[in-house]
Amino acid sequence: MTDRPALHIEDLRKEYGDVTALDGVSLTVPEGSFFGLLGPNGAGKTTFINTLVGLVRKSGGTARIFGHDVEDDYQEARNAVGLAPQEFNVDRFFPIREVLEHKAGYHGIPADEATRRADDALKQVGIYDKRDTRFDWLSGGMKRRFLLARALITDPDLLILDEPTAGVDVQLRHDLWELVTDLNDRGKTILLTTHYIEEAERLCDEVAILDSGRVRAVATPAELKDRGTDRIVVELRS
Ligand code: ATP
Repeated sequence: MTDRPALHIEDLRKEYGDVTALDGVSLTVPEGSFFGLLGPNGAGKTTFINTLVGLVRKSGGTARIFGHDVEDDYQEARNAVGLAPQEFNVDRFFPIREVLEHKAGYHGIPADEATRRADDALKQVGIYDKRDTRFDWLSGGMKRRFLLARALITDPDLLILDEPTAGVDVQLRHDLWELVTDLNDRGKTILLTTHYIEEAERLCDEVAILDSGRVRAVATPAELKDRGTDRIVVELRS
């Protein structure tokens, strides 16, 4: 453990032309926590994540990951994060173990170590027996597990999961909950975006509600319930 928060965000802004996607977001995510970012479509969740991992350049403010500025100390900040994105942007033509080995190689991990890490990540998410299968041939649930394995390949301290259970059935959602809870129990800080209040209640120590690029509330799920935020969230979704 360090004394630096996993994420420290101050007045983060992003404009796409006339569209303000992030309108002064400030947040602190403690190390080791399971933190939820809840919000309706278009709230700015993906933009927020993308600014953290260098896919989008912020318009203003600061964002630090374990003390590293996401732009000034890009490599240190990026190395601390594993991202499981919403989109399945995976190389479909290679066995999944090879895809993970390539990813590890891209991060400068030597070949023998890359194989060990790939196997370890596949075991952690429970699809090691599918290691020689192509991504396209996996079931929907296995694809989701694979995205988690890919995020784990650098053994990051912070895992960012962008709507990992969007559109999945109840059983799979419960399986994924178990998996990510286990990762958090084993020391990973987790930032999860979701549309589902039940998911945030079930998993998160703390939740921020994002709406129109602004943070409307930061609280424990129980506090949000007391404040009637359930109702607010339902309204946000409608
Ligand atoms: P969802 O839950 O639907 O994925 P979100 O909370 O992740 O939504 P973002 O995708 O971050 O929200 O979008 C925030 C706002 O920024 C929206 O108004 C969206 O239309 C806009 N936006 C996102 N990406 C771009 C882009 N590349 N160019 C222009 N506008 C964009």
